[in-house]
Parts: sequence; structure tokens; C-alpha cells
Amino acid sequence: MTEVVILGGGVGGAFAAAELSKRLRGKVQITLVDREGKHYFPPSYPWLVMGWRRPEQVWRPLTRLKARNVRHRQGEVASIEPDERRVIVDGSELRYDYLLVSLGAQLEPSAIAGFEEAALHPYDLEGAVNLGDALSRFDGGKVLVGISRLPFKCPAAPYEMALLMDYYFRRKGMRDSVDIEFFTPEPSPLPAAGKDIGGKAAAMMEERGIPLHTKREMDHIDSESRLVHFRGDAQMDYDLLVAIPPHTTCDAVRNSGLAKDGPWIPVDRYTMQSSYDDVYAVGDVTIIKTPSGNVPALPKAGVFAEGQAKTACQNIASEVLGRTGGRWDGYGMCFLETGYGRAGMVRGNFFGEAQPAIAMRKPGRLWHWAKLFVEWRWLDRLFR
Ligand SMILES: Cc1cc2nc3c(=O)[nH]c(=O)nc-3n(C[C@H](O)[C@H](O)[C@H](O)COP(=O)(O)OP(=O)(O)OC[C@H]3O[C@@H](n4cnc5c(N)ncnc54)[C@H](O)[C@@H]3O)c2cc1C
Repeated sequence: MTEVVILGGGVGGAFAAAELSKRLRGKVQITLVDREGKHYFPPSYPWLVMGWRRPEQVWRPLTRLKARNVRHRQGEVASIEPDERRVIVDGSELRYDYLLVSLGAQLEPSAIAGFEEAALHPYDLEGAVNLGDALSRFDGGKVLVGISRLPFKCPAAPYEMALLMDYYFRRKGMRDSVDIEFFTPEPSPLPAAGKDIGGKAAAMMEERGIPLHTKREMDHIDSESRLVHFRGDAQMDYDLLVAIPPHTTCDAVRNSGLAKDGPWIPVDRYTMQSSYDDVYAVGDVTIIKTPSGNVPALPKAGVFAEGQAKTACQNIASEVLGRTGGRWDGYGMCFLETGYGRAGMVRGNFFGEAQPAIAMRKPGRLWHWAKLFVEWRWLDRLFR
């Protein structure tokens, strides 16, 4: 039987496991490896911060994929050896005919001096719980929200977090005693979506009284004097610092020979194939140059991980079955929760090859309900 190994049980990996088992039931043995026994759904973390979800509501056990004939192997991927067609997991060898890498981006707070002592963030489950606790204890002062370094996952999430915090403090009746400011190394919000949408997102921040400071890349944090120092000579003070940590990939990816552009794996943007014919990579672990070149690379987002996983599975299935493969079209959409039971929505073709390119729908109840549907579809249908 053909052996397919999927590395990573996050958004791209879990979706790929379900998709491959649907396309190739009985024809392949699928093994999914993850260091965790759980699949997490990060789009729900901002709701967790707000107290609208409990931690146990935003994950599912990976063993549930057994119902789809997927073997789950819990363990650390220590090395990926594409020349040998094998991976090493916790000291033992796993051989494959096809490999799909979806090991995501890893948070690296230690890359910035002072970050671990000073900053909170909603970018993993523990971080989201801690941030929610800190907000509930905050009794006024300056909340500084921002993005430390590029690239980072989910271009909208930090802006969404700032808007939700504004909502949170208004609901508590204490917005007058809280200043919220935002910083980013980007030239404008959501640069991959174009200037027009960036302008709309900036206007939303302004309407909520959140000054936006662009082109500020974090250098170090002095937690004693509560100052963030940026490259150049700018600095900003804070009472509560909420910052997205720098991102990288795990050692196994960096040392695999697959990563060639910094820590990320370059793939063919249409097929998801890496520099090895039998190795595909999807999601945050990849780097994909856009044809339009409007941004250095395609942003990292779950919606892309899902679309790319679908294409990679189509291509693996076509090789196994001797059929024609598929091409990914660069389509993506994301929600921007704004509080008051509303969300905005951005969607379109991020390769800039199809018209209309990318559009933004203004915040409304419909898009908030649509995000609820996506959460249900993911956690309850994929992991039923
Ligand atoms: C707060 C927040 C909100 C977000 N909101 C949205 C949204 O609304 N829409 C959207 O499209 N995207 C959103 N995202 C982004 C989205 O979650 C990611 O882009 C998506 O999870 C990427 O999927 P992935 O499979 O590439 O990586 P991941 O989902 O991160 O999965 C990687 C997996 O690999 C495992 N792993 C890593 N290294 C190893 C190793 N060495 N050995 C074993 N296992 C390993 C990890 O445990 C993990 O399970 C959000 C992200 C955050 C943090």
C-alpha cells in the first residue's frame, strides 16, 4: 500500500488527512504526526481572550481522525530526510512514498530581548488565556498592541484584537481611562490586500480612537521602564503590552534541505510541490511569492493552508490514480471581528490574477455569523 505521511495536525495537516482519506480510501495508508495530541483552532483565540469561549471549546483530539482511517502518531518530528524518503519521529524512522509537510510557523519570543518578560499575546492557547486574565485585571492606562516582526500569521488578527479590546473596555465602561495604540512594521494594514483595503482598515482603527504607527519594527523591550524600542530611534511606552511574537519554523524544517528562503519552504505556488517531487508543503511553513509581487510573499493564514492542502491532496491522489492534478488559485477570505456582534470580511484572489481581485465588506452581523459557521464546520464537522 502507498504510504502517505502528513507532518503537522494543525489546520493544513488535519484538513489534508480528511481530504486524502476521502480521495484515496483503501488505496493509501495515511499517518499524521504531531507533537500534540490535540488539534487547535486559532481563529477562536480572540474569542477566548474576550471570554466568549473556554479553552476546552477550541480544540479537538487528533485521535478522532481514526474514524477517517488516519493513523495519528504523537511525537516530535526530529528530522526530515527527503533524499532517504524518511522522517525521524522521537528516534524512530517513518518511511513514505509521499510526504506532506504542514508544520506551521513556530513562535520565537526569545528572538527579541525583553519580549518574554514583557509581552502578552493571543497567538497560542496559553497566551490567549493569559491575555484574557490580564485584560480582566487591567484597571486603566495605556495598552500598546502591535506586530513585532514580519512575517506573521493571520494578517487581520492583530487589528481584530485591538478593535475587540476597544469594544471590551467600552462594555466595561472604562474606555475613557484606557488609551489603545497600535504599531506595525507594515507600511499599512493588510498590505497583501492592497492600498484601498489597508486604508479602510486604518479608518476603522481611527474611528475607534486607536492611533496607528506603521513602519515600526521592534528592536528590544525594556520591561523595567516599560518601553518598546524600535529600529531607528523611536520608542513607545505602555502599561500593558500585547505584541505578536516573531515567527520561525521548527529545527526539523530548517535542517531538512527543503527550507531555502530563510526558515520557510519554497513551493510551486500552483501545485504545492517542494524541490522534491514526492514532497509537498502547505500552510504557514511555506513561502510563496505572488505573481503580482505587491508584497514580499503571500500572507500566512488558515484559509490558505486549507486551499493549499486541498490542491496538494488532489496532486498526490492524481499521482496514485494516474489522473490529472490540480492547481491552487490563490483565493482567500478572512473575517475581521469588530465587537458589537459584527465582523468585516476580506476576500479575493491574492495572486492578483483574477478579477475582481480583493474586496472588503463592511462590518455586519452576517459576517460574524459566517465566522461562527466556519468554526462549527471546522471543529464539529471535520472532527465529528
Ligand atoms: C489568533 C489567531 C487568529 C487567527 N485567525 C485566523 C482566521 O480568522 N482565518 C485564517 O485563515 N487564519 C487565521 N489564523 C491563522 C491560522 O491559524 C494559521 O495560518 C493556520 O493554523 C496554519 O495552518 P498550518 O497547518 O500551516 O499550521 P498549524 O495550524 O500551526 O499546525 C502546525 C502543527 O504542526 C505541529 N508541529 C510543529 N512542529 C512540529 C514538530 N517538530 N514535531 C511535531 N509536530 C510539530 C504543531 O503542533 C501544529 O499542530 C489565526 C491565527 C491566530 C494565531
